[in-house]
Parts: sequence; structure tokens; C-alpha cells
Amino acid sequence: MKKNALDPVVARLCPNCGLCCDSTLFADVELRAGDDARRLEQLGLVLAPKGRGRLAFAQPCACFGGKLCGIYGDRPRRCRLFECGLLKRVGLGELTASAALAKIAAARRRAAAVRERLRSLGQQDEQMALTHRYAGAMSAPVDLSDAAGVAGQGELMLAVSELMELLQRDFLS
Ligand code: SF4
Ligand code: SF4
Repeated sequence: MKKNALDPVVARLCPNCGLCCDSTLFADVELRAGDDARRLEQLGLVLAPKGRGRLAFAQPCACFGGKLCGIYGDRPRRCRLFECGLLKRVGLGELTASAALAKIAAARRRAAAVRERLRSLGQQDEQMALTHRYAGAMSAPVDLSDAAGVAGQGELMLAVSELMELLQRDFLS
């Protein structure tokens, strides 16, 4: 959810990342006051009620092209306002862009490891948010006589734990 494409830090980091649009960081995004829901739907976002009159769209975002936002000039307010921890720290001069790119690469590797383990457990729905896929895989009945299946759930838990630790430290703090 890139804040400002004209910002050189954003231009350097975000096209190499996408974790705030592909469901690694967020399962959905709520619209804010001032967002034009009809216009956003025309642009391709699929909005759904989220209780108390709120609207949200699920991630992975339908407008995410893999590297860039496909509706950048019209993106919702929440996307405009979000700034991850890496952007903040590079902007403040606490971290170099190269170090931030290394952290992005590490996070993407850990997210890929989680997705690989989900697939191996039969959770193949790439259009579902990562956290929902994880919940589905962990709540599936376990055949205790299937050692590989039991081990697979353990490996998934570990992979998610490693990913969350990195996301909390570098992106969400
Ligand atoms: S609208 Fe754009 S910035 Fe917002 S989540 Fe979707 S792809 Fe990302
Ligand atoms: S998580 Fe941060 S670096 Fe990554 S795309 Fe979002 S704003 Fe850019």
C-alpha cells in the first residue's frame, strides 16, 4: 500500500516487496471516510460488509499486479496512509535502503516458505488471505497415524512463527 510513488524510498522498496498488498501483512483493508466505494468497485476492488456499516476488500488485493498497485492514483485512503516500519526507518535515516531491501527479501522468503507448506498440506487457494489459509490448514482434522501430516502441521506452525516474528519487528512496529 504504497504511500507516495514519488518518494524515492517508496520507489526503491515497494516494487520489490508488495507484502502489504498480497495478504502477507493484512487479510483485508477497510475503507475510510472519503473513499468512493462505487468508484473503487468500478476499478476492480471487491467490497464486502465488515460489520457496523464498514466496507472492506479482501487481500490478496484484486488490484495488485504482483509488483505495483494497479489503481495507484485512485487507491483507498488506508492504502495512502499506510507506511510500514521499513519505510519509516529508511525515511528517518535509521536504516539504509539496501538493508531494508535485504529485510524485504528475507520476509518474502519466509512468506514463500509458509505458502509452500500450505500447499503441501492441501491448502491450495492462492486467492485466500495467508492468515485464513493458515487457520484452515491448522483446523483440518489430523490423522494421528499419518506422521508426515502431523509433522507438516508442526513445520507450518514454525514457518508462520518465523514469518510473524520478522513482520512484527521490521514491518509493523
Ligand atoms: S488498492 Fe493498491 S495499494 Fe491498496 S491494497 Fe490494493 S494494490 Fe495495494
Ligand atoms: S510493506 Fe512497506 S516496503 Fe513493502 S510494499 Fe508495503 S509499504 Fe512498501
